[in-house]
Amino acid sequence: MKRIGVLTSGGDAQGMNAAVRAVVRTAIDQGVEVYAILEGYQGMVDGGQRIRPINWNDVGGILHQGGTIIGSARCRAFMERDGRLRAAQNLVDNGIEGLVIIGGDGSLTGASVLHDEWSGLLAELVDAGKITQEAADHHQFMPSVGLVGSIDNDMYGTDMTIGADTALHRITEAVDAISSTAASHQRAFVVEVMGRRCGYLALMSALATGADWVLIPESPPNLDAWEDKMCDVLRKGRAIGRRDSIVIVAEGAQDRYGNRITSTYVKQVLEEKLKEDTRVTILGHVQRGGSPSAFDRNLSTILGWEAVHTLLKMAPQQETLVIGMRGNRIEATPLSECLAKTKTVADAIARRDYDAALKARGGSFARSFRTLRTLVRALPHEPEPGKRQLRLAVLHSGAPAPGMNTAVRAAVRLGVDQGHTMFGVRNGFRGLIEDEFIELDWMSVNGWALRGGAELGTNRKIPEGSDFYAIARNLEKHQIQGILMIGGWSGYLAVLEVFERRSNFPAFQIPIVCLPASIDNDLPGSELSVGADTALNSIVNAVDKIKQSAVASRRVFVVEVMGRYCGYLALMSALATGAERVYLPEEGITLTDLVHDVHQLMKGFRQGKRVGLTIRNEDANDVYTTDFIKSLFQEEGGELYDVRTAILGHIQQGGNPTPFDRIQAVRLAAECIHFLEQQLNGSAAEPMSACIGLLNGGYKFTDLENVPRLMDKQFQRPNHQWWLSLRPVARVMARPGPAG
Ligand code: ADP
Repeated sequence: MKRIGVLTSGGDAQGMNAAVRAVVRTAIDQGVEVYAILEGYQGMVDGGQRIRPINWNDVGGILHQGGTIIGSARCRAFMERDGRLRAAQNLVDNGIEGLVIIGGDGSLTGASVLHDEWSGLLAELVDAGKITQEAADHHQFMPSVGLVGSIDNDMYGTDMTIGADTALHRITEAVDAISSTAASHQRAFVVEVMGRRCGYLALMSALATGADWVLIPESPPNLDAWEDKMCDVLRKGRAIGRRDSIVIVAEGAQDRYGNRITSTYVKQVLEEKLKEDTRVTILGHVQRGGSPSAFDRNLSTILGWEAVHTLLKMAPQQETLVIGMRGNRIEATPLSECLAKTKTVADAIARRDYDAALKARGGSFARSFRTLRTLVRALPHEPEPGKRQLRLAVLHSGAPAPGMNTAVRAAVRLGVDQGHTMFGVRNGFRGLIEDEFIELDWMSVNGWALRGGAELGTNRKIPEGSDFYAIARNLEKHQIQGILMIGGWSGYLAVLEVFERRSNFPAFQIPIVCLPASIDNDLPGSELSVGADTALNSIVNAVDKIKQSAVASRRVFVVEVMGRYCGYLALMSALATGAERVYLPEEGITLTDLVHDVHQLMKGFRQGKRVGLTIRNEDANDVYTTDFIKSLFQEEGGELYDVRTAILGHIQQGGNPTPFDRIQAVRLAAECIHFLEQQLNGSAAEPMSACIGLLNGGYKFTDLENVPRLMDKQFQRPNHQWWLSLRPVARVMARPGPAG
């Protein structure tokens, strides 16, 4: 294959630019030319100037931009065979031999139709004398791959579609802002979010913001008088001191009978039944706008990279494949399967078979909805008679990570709802030693969903010597039956210390579960930890600004990021900001590297480059520090450029958690409470202790017995780090383009 085409089609989504950039650069890197097809299928039908070569430098500086620089459109003509006939001719005339199509389910349906008709279209073009038989033979097949660009996250074949995470950012920013004004005036707000057939954005934003009610298409309220039920919950919430009432409505929300539930209707209901001053906010296109999140930039980059590699490997006649992500793994699924499974949900909603719709969305969607239904309650359920009530403790350890509070809130509410007594332990293991236990009830965690930092307090204390006696005594005193530790590396070490002494202290023979929370993402048994996404976004936002500040002058930045001995934040922020060079602790820094890098930099500036960006992890090397690198670059570069450093520091640990971190925190906490119940109610002689993590796209528990084996104790990171395999992607994306 020598030349491929790339297009973005349908509703635009943040991250499409990153995908186009990755497709273009990966293809050129593989020796393949790329043509941009402008304005989606419209450009394919029109041809002419709308299909043209796109080069390495054409896709520079677009990572942080929303929308799509090659344009997107909805195209009527392509819905007709005649339009597709013209499109086929334009593809053949331009010598395009493969396609990468970035769009929603509509656009990918179009791709599937074109693929099915391809040989017929060519035969017709030959008959009409519009292309030669030779050209038709050469273009006998049009292998294609699709990437799902859609803010709705409504398509089978990928856990996340391009744009969904950024849309969630926009929604949570808005709802957080509305919450504060709603609270000052004790008002009710109805917020309408996008999603005609998919409640993903509504459900996840409700989970992330701690909204009080949510209405989604897949699972309408299971009652005729749902309005009364909703008002009842909101009224009770007010009575116990909630100052704001927020209802999130998906654009396509409906009742059991398929009648639409509009935001205006919800407002009417609240005003009539609750007599509350109610305002409606329809977020609309704000959700499609703004700079893509770190996640969307990286997701799109990785998918774009993979799309090209898949396309180049495909058999000519192979069916179109959709490239998506399952967990952190890339997966290719036949387009027909993706379209059919996506349609199952829409069909189920249309037939009003809501159980089937919810089921077809997948297990985690349904589980999240159940969790949400408990979290929004004004008060916990009455305890079930006969159900065993437990006494559970929650504590932190390690550095603060955004999302810690969100996890505590979810754990406490879900525990209390099951009739358990929930204790918070202040100040990590120190509080466990010094008896700083407080009972947490339903309202004591109100408003914690979005709060950064760690309300319970956290530090790096690891118990030793007589501390264990003190801990055992306090656990006995409060009759604690299970512990949830939400924290980082030192928390894992501390828990292991306690766990290893369980035969000496009967009080330690209880299930303990660790929930990974650390911006460094350096914890065993989980591919991602709560807090890392927020830190990554803080870095990316800061670097975007730093880069902007530099365009007026020729400048090189050396940005130092946190991570201790784990290069996750450094590599992922380099990928998301287009840094030319990243220094990781896993690779270290050598003099040879530095000599090579400074020469590359100088070469770039001599060829007209205006901004240089290098990201260095804080512990990449003890001798070649950020200041050392700055001095070296400056000394060698002379007049070519100025060098500045930016040590980002604690802004990386602060800030309110991102939607992704909040959602993970809630889901992980729910799994952990369930785990503790299972262990305590199970029949095993000794309950299991474990750490939970996101592994291969699902939540898994790893027995604490096996955890030390996963840890590199010297460098305080897991032995195996999945994201290291992304290094080649970062390297290729950041290379200077072919000279010229
Ligand atoms: P999205 O891709 O975001 O779901 P649309 O549903 O509007 O957006 O689809 C985008 C474009 O894809 C349409 O304007 C049309 O050109 C093309 N398309 C959609 N469905 C079909 C179809 N069944 N046959 C041919 N082309 C289609």
